[in-house]
Amino acid sequence: MNNSARIILILAIMAISHVSCTTRRTTGGQFANNPVIAHRGAWKTKGLPQNSIAALHEAIRLGCAGTEFDVHLTQDDVLVVNHDADFLGIDVATSTYEELLAKKLPNGESIPTARDYLLEGMKQQKTKLIFELKTSRLGKERTKYSADLAVALVKELGAEQWVEYIMFDYDGAKRIIELDPDAKVWYLNGDVAPQQAKADGFFGLDYHFTVFRDKQPTWLQEAKRLGLAVNVWTVNDRAEMVRLLDQKAEFITTDEPELLFEVLSER
Ligand code: MG
Repeated sequence: MNNSARIILILAIMAISHVSCTTRRTTGGQFANNPVIAHRGAWKTKGLPQNSIAALHEAIRLGCAGTEFDVHLTQDDVLVVNHDADFLGIDVATSTYEELLAKKLPNGESIPTARDYLLEGMKQQKTKLIFELKTSRLGKERTKYSADLAVALVKELGAEQWVEYIMFDYDGAKRIIELDPDAKVWYLNGDVAPQQAKADGFFGLDYHFTVFRDKQPTWLQEAKRLGLAVNVWTVNDRAEMVRLLDQKAEFITTDEPELLFEVLSER
């Protein structure tokens, strides 16, 4: 092979690897394009347990752009999907996964592991999986460690294009950004100004609706000006949904995804 053929070959390889790198994160617009994020899955209308696989399926069935779920770390380092610090009375942080299997959700499901939940969500490509990693009450180090495990799990499963991370713990969230600079990481706690979050590499702000409405009324537009995405939680009121859509919030997290779809269809 002469020199110019060699150069052409190298350029071709570079071009192909560039394409495969960029397509890892972009999905060609397959994910649903709407502002609806189901809070703990879509559970309310059908009376499903929050954070259950059944509620995940329902959010997917409704066509939500995303479905949020809460993740805690067990004593034996298993990431499990549950909102509270306890699972039906069993403390998650100080119990083993095996111990949590003693109880079942009302629909008969065991507590989902984050692994099972992600694998289930990855069977489709319409609804994103909004991974809320909970702050460990065992301390900062444990929270940071759970961030390490969460990112490792997502990478192991190849779930990067499905997953966006949300966290109340700022340092934990920054740890995720450090481990995966391409990850979309949102901050939840409402106490960091858009400029700071932008400087720290966040993808977006995901704040309670009273933060944007009452406490920091300039932050929503400020975030958008800076190129941060805006998600607002947890909005179950029709008038509030309309107000936020008027303000061009990209996403609204709600216990009432059907209502938000109805509001959207009227616009
Ligand atoms: Mg949550």
